[in-house]
Amino acid sequence: MKFATKVIHAGITPDPSTGAVMTPIYQTSTYVQEAPGKHKGYEYARTQNPTRTVLENNLAALENGTHAICFSSGLAAMDAVLKTLNPGDEILSTNDLYGGSYRLMRRVFEKYGIVSTFIDLGNPATLKAALNENTKLIWAETPTNPMLNVLDIQAICEVVKNIDPLITVCVDNTFASPYLQNPLDLGADVVLHSATKYIGGHSDLVLGALVVKDEARANEFYFLQNAVGAIPGPQDCFLALRGIKTLHLRVERTCQNAERVAETLANHPKVSKVYYPGFEHHAGHAIAKRQMRHFGGMVSFDLVADSFEAAEKVLSGTHLFSLAESLGGVESLIGHPASMTHASIPREQRLKVGLTDSLIRLSIGVEDADDLIDDLKSALEKI
Ligand SMILES: *Cc1c(COP(=O)(O)O)cnc(C)c1O
Repeated sequence: MKFATKVIHAGITPDPSTGAVMTPIYQTSTYVQEAPGKHKGYEYARTQNPTRTVLENNLAALENGTHAICFSSGLAAMDAVLKTLNPGDEILSTNDLYGGSYRLMRRVFEKYGIVSTFIDLGNPATLKAALNENTKLIWAETPTNPMLNVLDIQAICEVVKNIDPLITVCVDNTFASPYLQNPLDLGADVVLHSATKYIGGHSDLVLGALVVKDEARANEFYFLQNAVGAIPGPQDCFLALRGIKTLHLRVERTCQNAERVAETLANHPKVSKVYYPGFEHHAGHAIAKRQMRHFGGMVSFDLVADSFEAAEKVLSGTHLFSLAESLGGVESLIGHPASMTHASIPREQRLKVGLTDSLIRLSIGVEDADDLIDDLKSALEKI
């Protein structure tokens, strides 16, 4: 099946008990057994839920994996990946990543003796030098948040697997969505999604997923899903399934809009820099062109007036772009990483990767591009 068919049909069949075309919301905590141990494969809803099963089967197909395991949030999914490690194990992570991921590694897992080192994963020499016998997990995110840097997933996997094939490579694929990029095909072992973003797509749920391509890893994550219990509810699984049906259409439109917005900003006198992998001069353009279907719906930009005050004027000056955290919904959002999504990262660390006090991040929605452009132009007038 091609992608547009998979979003509608993969793993989804009409409900066997009623013929309902849409996957029902199985709002139940338990299932009746005919005799002790004699049941239909469902015993207790932390362990299995039919709505969740359909979502997991669908997501596995979208990422060309064999299994998907869903969690109550993207960070709960990441927590499960980190819980496969033992005290003394080390994580090598990209140095430009989602603030919550950084916080989980630094403030939670370091307490249990699992240390993370943050490096430029895009530099093979740096990566090789940083790998050591304790390294058990590589954490990659591409395109990165909010700097829109692009990592070569295949190159990272080759460097790592040549040194030690047992090191796990996990790619946070939230920014690209399964429509634009499939890391398992490029050699990664685990794909993480915050389905809260593009997969759900309507800013109405919080949910996370891991996708893998082998049974041993899947079983490890199913074990943690059940043993820890950070499961999504059936209503959220239903909403994710509903969102997925239009994933390709939404992301397609978002990418077209983002390209137009990025071009407009690049030519604006009050804008100093635009971060968008679709530009030919973007350092990761060639890689993005090879590993992604399009260049994504995220655009970040910096202001000539390099100050928080200037950024504040733009942030409160838009009408269509809502000032909010998150991304990937049908509506356009505007955000200020330094004070919002990335506030948990120390300032010096932020500045090192170009995340200044005036950096503005846009999540482009599926509205009319002309209206979005007019909205940004009038907000920039306020500086
Ligand atoms: C939002 C986000 C997460 C965390 O997901 P939640 O569903 O909010 O827990 C992880 N990675 C990236 C890139 C994100 O944007």
